[in-house]
Amino acid sequence: MAKVVETTLRGPEAYGLARRVLDEMEAAGVWPTPVNFELWLHHLGEPEGPLGQEIRRILAAGEPFTEAVSDMLAAEYLPRGRLSEEIRDAGRVLDRELTSVATAIAKAHKNQSEYGQVLAGASADMEGAASPESLRTVVDGLATATRKVQKQNADLEKRLDASTREVARLREHLEQVRRDAMTDALTNLANRKAFDEHLEACVEAAHRDGRDLVLAVVDIDHFKRFNDTWGHQTGDQVIRYVASVLGRLARTPRMAARYGGEEFAVIFPNEDSATVEAALEDVRTEIASRSLRRRSTDDELGAVTISAGHARLARGETAAALLGRADEALYASKHGGRNRVTCAESAQRAAA
Ligand code: GH3
Ligand code: MG
Ligand code: MG
Repeated sequence: MAKVVETTLRGPEAYGLARRVLDEMEAAGVWPTPVNFELWLHHLGEPEGPLGQEIRRILAAGEPFTEAVSDMLAAEYLPRGRLSEEIRDAGRVLDRELTSVATAIAKAHKNQSEYGQVLAGASADMEGAASPESLRTVVDGLATATRKVQKQNADLEKRLDASTREVARLREHLEQVRRDAMTDALTNLANRKAFDEHLEACVEAAHRDGRDLVLAVVDIDHFKRFNDTWGHQTGDQVIRYVASVLGRLARTPRMAARYGGEEFAVIFPNEDSATVEAALEDVRTEIASRSLRRRSTDDELGAVTISAGHARLARGETAAALLGRADEALYASKHGGRNRVTCAESAQRAAA
């Protein structure tokens, strides 16, 4: 659901949709709070989706669209809400497991101290035992108490095993949630949030270790024209295609991300500008030389080209400043006629 709407929001219908959302909210007497706006955006952007149907049902039933209703819908249907719901679920499972383990341990404690008392009692009885028969009674009592405590220990072990498995399952699930939150749904590349965090960390490491770091930004040329001609779906296919080429280029420790609509960024730790330039040139020529076909109709779409800019981390430079210089280099590629790669440092030397 989210993807359809997000694509529409960066397309020709975006403002029309946003206006329609406000009009329809006003007509329905719903306050234009940010949450309501987002809900209605998804509702009108994809009326046949589950959220759209639910909102229509609420309106048809004449139920008031209160804050509680909004919150409930947001938690259930909006992508961010689903994420926090998953995290709340995880918290509940952890809580339950911790309580159950704590109870089991407390019980084990109690059993052990009871067993200690049985042992102490038996030892006193043995000293005072006059006959073999009374000794046998003491030993029988001990055997029974030992069996009981053994069984309790086995139960405890089983309980702890189950909890360990449950917590491991939870950890895996949370890891998946975390991965999803860091991944761009259309291309499976890292998303902007993951990229920003990783870039900060790479910049810090490069300064600390005195190593090279190059950042590249890549943008599809005349993509708006492409979209207008072939439609968004086909546009999305092209974004995916470019992403797949960049993904192949960016094996770890490099990292490629979808930075925005049709814009990508690649981090090259520990590499110099010449190597990066060559790698980007390879990508550029590969993309430009390939004639794409539309999957649905097999129409010939012609070649798509990309422009790129890259910059090498300067002494003491921040991630934001590096990104700014890489962006300037990208714009130089655009102004120079597109379908080219510009090195920020070479461009600066040439200008000086
Ligand atoms: P330039 O060569 O200067 O980069 O021109 P351009 O048309 O590529 O650049 P501009 O930034 O003007 O337009 C980018 C277009 O990308 C606008 C929008 O319609 C489209 N777009 C952004 N995100 C998506 C998306 O997720 N899917 C699709 N299909 N199109 C998108
Ligand atoms: Mg573009
Ligand atoms: Mg762009």
